[in-house]
Amino acid sequence: MISRYVAVIGAGAAGLVAARELRREGHVVVIFEREDQVGGTWVYTQEVDSDPLGLDPSRVSVHSSLYRSLRTNLPRESMGFIDYPFVTRSDGSGDTRRFPGHQEVLMYLKEFAKVFGVEEMVRFEVEVVKVCLVENNRWRVRSKKKSTDVDIIVEEVFDAVVVCSGGRNSQPHVADIPGIDMWPGKQMHSHNFRIPEPFRDLVVILVGNSFSAADISRDMAGVVKEVHVASKFVADGTYEKQPGYDNMWLHSKIESAHEDGTVVFRNGRVVLADVILHCTGYNYRYPFLETNGVITVDDNRVGPLYKHVFPPALAPWLSFVGITWKSIPFPLYELQSKWIAGVLSGRIMLPSQQEMMEDVKAFYSTLEASGKPKRYTHTMNDFQYEYNNWLAAQCRGPGFAEWRDQMMHASAKNRSIRPDTFQDEWEDEHLILEAQEEFIKYTS
Ligand code: FAD
Repeated sequence: MISRYVAVIGAGAAGLVAARELRREGHVVVIFEREDQVGGTWVYTQEVDSDPLGLDPSRVSVHSSLYRSLRTNLPRESMGFIDYPFVTRSDGSGDTRRFPGHQEVLMYLKEFAKVFGVEEMVRFEVEVVKVCLVENNRWRVRSKKKSTDVDIIVEEVFDAVVVCSGGRNSQPHVADIPGIDMWPGKQMHSHNFRIPEPFRDLVVILVGNSFSAADISRDMAGVVKEVHVASKFVADGTYEKQPGYDNMWLHSKIESAHEDGTVVFRNGRVVLADVILHCTGYNYRYPFLETNGVITVDDNRVGPLYKHVFPPALAPWLSFVGITWKSIPFPLYELQSKWIAGVLSGRIMLPSQQEMMEDVKAFYSTLEASGKPKRYTHTMNDFQYEYNNWLAAQCRGPGFAEWRDQMMHASAKNRSIRPDTFQDEWEDEHLILEAQEEFIKYTS
């Protein structure tokens, strides 16, 4: 097996497991991490971007999008890495809930980094500012370490670069609302929401209806005067008071915003609002990557990428972990990382560049034929089981157990039945037992 000198960009969940797998395969790894600790998204901060909407390119920005009250939206059994289960500690310390608070996830990632000696590979407070191709398919990585006098710039050449920068975790995507430029209220993105108190007694409109909107609307309801949630996924006439709340309504999409402060919904309702909070997700962004147009981000499609990981023209010397979403992230990152590590050492073969490109084109055609918009190219949903097991087959290692997939779907169903209590009441005990049986292999 051939050992390569590999740069991993980012020490979030993806970077940590990528580094572990690369080293297990015999590669020499340097992890570049802009912050002063591992954990990425899971490092909660009270700080927010200087532009609350997160659009100004010159803004001072923060990486994490966590709000204070956040609990995981997946059960912990399904969330953890395959060979390092996210179980409660034997001494009962920490947050023992099945859907724990964000601090518990950070603790788990820190433990992972310690147990597998990943931390020692990290250069903390070092930001990668440029990655470009040099001769013989090698990569020049320019990094910057902040210092009180002058920033320290270092350039180094690597055999391969694995991008784990959480490219879609901190660049807000906002809704396009007719008339918004004239609307006098305050706009912000959920990336910059931390606590509900600053919104006391205000009328707030949340745009979006996914996890963040659901959590934040409930967080807000106890403090604000009114919460109105606008969703593009409900019928135009929708206007529903939310069960259990006397100040929260679900509306159809926003039709327009006006100079007098009112906002009109597709259901015909008019609300005089103080704040519009966009819970509308994120856009991919890789400001450091220079590939002479080989890789582009077009309407949130990062491409072309073979199986969401390798750009055919630059494989295997450049790869991405963690581009996919709407799946269970950690085990998927683990399998992507094993694949990359094995390909770089020569243990696993990739198809030819042309075959990979044909596969990508066929994938895009399937998406088009099914009417899936380009911006959802990297969503997994029902494909995660098949995708993960395809990766596992490449690596000839343990696969992605069916109970994980079933647990994710059971949890989604439970959430639709019990939107307020799905993190504390459930009916998939049989899946927990299956998980525990698997975990014995790794915890005893
Ligand atoms: P990140 O965690 O974002 O890490 C990327 C790292 O790269 C960061 O540390 C960053 O500082 C560093 N970095 C970026 N650019 C550079 C650079 N140029 N130079 C050096 N370092 C750089 N997942 C779940 O499994 N369960 C949940 O309940 C869940 N809830 C979520 C809630 C919210 C609000 C969000 C935003 C995400 C949630 N996720 C959840 C998904 C979460 O994003 C993944 O679990 C995972 O943490 C992403 O890991 P990552 O390593 O890909 O990215």
